Formats: sequence, C-alpha cells, structure tokens
Amino acid sequence: MLVDYHVHAMGHGTSRHTPEEIALYLATAAGRGIAQVGFADHDWYLADYDLTAIKAAAGRFPGVQVRLGVEVDFLLNAGERLQALVSRYPFDFVIGSVHQLGEWGFDCVEDVERYQEWDPDVLYREYFRHVAAAAQSGLFSFIGHLDLIKIFNVRSRQPVAELAAEALAAIRQAGLPCEINTNGLNKPVKEIYPQRSLLERCFALGIPVTLGSDAHFAAEVGRDLALARELAWSVGYRKIATFFQRRCIMENL
Ligand SMILES: [Zn+2]
Ligand SMILES: [Zn+2]
Repeated sequence: MLVDYHVHAMGHGTSRHTPEEIALYLATAAGRGIAQVGFADHDWYLADYDLTAIKAAAGRFPGVQVRLGVEVDFLLNAGERLQALVSRYPFDFVIGSVHQLGEWGFDCVEDVERYQEWDPDVLYREYFRHVAAAAQSGLFSFIGHLDLIKIFNVRSRQPVAELAAEALAAIRQAGLPCEINTNGLNKPVKEIYPQRSLLERCFALGIPVTLGSDAHFAAEVGRDLALARELAWSVGYRKIATFFQRRCIMENL
C-alpha cells in the first residue's frame, strides 16, 4: 500500500486550505494510487488550518483516506510551546522534524555558507542530538526526514549510522517510526532521506517506517513514493506505519 504522510497543502504559503485547492492535492493522490494522504502543514501555519475545507474536499475522493497532521519544527527547550501546538487540533499524527540548530535553519539555501563553520562529524552529532531529544519529547508520531542534515550534500567522514546511534536508540525506545521521505531527490544531495545504510540500521533495530513526499504543491503528492517503497522492500520491510487518531496502525507495504 502506498501512503503519503507528508503533504503541505499550504506549501510555503503558496496555497490555502480551501476545498478547491485541497481537491487538487487529492486528485494527484488518486491518480497515483495513493491510498492515504496525511496533510501536515508546517506548524507556523496552524492558525490558517481549515478542517471543514479538508473534510469537504475529502468527501469528493472516497478512494483516498485523508488524515490530519502537522509538521512540527522541533527545538530544544521549547516543550511547553510545542505541546500547545500539537494539542491544537484533533490530529491523527504529528511529524517531529529538526530543521534548525539553535538559530540556524540549516536547510535554508540562504544560510548555506554556515556549513563552513562546522566539522562535518561534529555537525552530524549535533543534528542527531536534536533528533534524539525530539524522539524523547513524547510529542511526535514519527520522525521526519531522518538525515535532513545531508541536504546540501555535506557528508560526515564517520559512518552516519554510527553518528546517529544514540538518536536511533531514542527513536526505538520511544517506539517511533521514521519516514522515508523522497524530497531529498530534489535537493542538492539527490538522495532519499534516510540513506540506505541508515535505513538498514533502522530495520535491524526494528524501527518501523512510513512514507512521505514532502509535497509543497498539488502536483508533487506521491512523488517518487514507488521508489521509496522499493527501497524499503529491498531493505527487508514488509509493513508500513499509518496513523489514525494518534495511533500507529501497521499495514502491508
Ligand atoms: Zn521538514
Ligand atoms: Zn515538510
């Protein structure tokens, strides 16, 4: 089964929650055989969520199950504020994503020169320290784009699975799935998140996976998810995590 649990119906403010615009996203999903679509806009758009519009659009696509989520920008020491965000609507799932180290939004092309300030291994350790804290926060349904820190193709010298060991232990301890996110293929790194060696370590640890395109436009829903499924299958996965009312339900991949 193909699912897309990482869809930004508002993009980066490029569209809105209206029945017409949401229907465009669902039409793409239906055309690509996506069984479940999880809408998860960035948390800074929460005030603009319109659940009625989502419901109205979903009613026009009975073949696609629609789930409601949010992608939360995880920050250290922000527990209370983040707790308020994830409690705001009756979410089916909440994505925990690390996009920022302190003040630095490391996935922003505008700030890419700041990579030069870091030794890559130290940078990766710092990133995965944040991922571990996200897993331990108890706020999330799954971890988004597990190795986003590679986005601009800055690679660690030490094997990434070693640098991520504590984060993976925390994810496993918390019982959280990780996301196979295909949007890395469209970034300078040109590789799915997470890279194969990291996914193999996840599998070895018994960490489940779900799938996400990170679509920011209707045409991108479900993009490259067949590749993500192939990758998961080749690593050994046969089940996939889906979400309903904050519960994780395993389905056949
Ligand atoms: Zn993200
Ligand atoms: Zn996203």
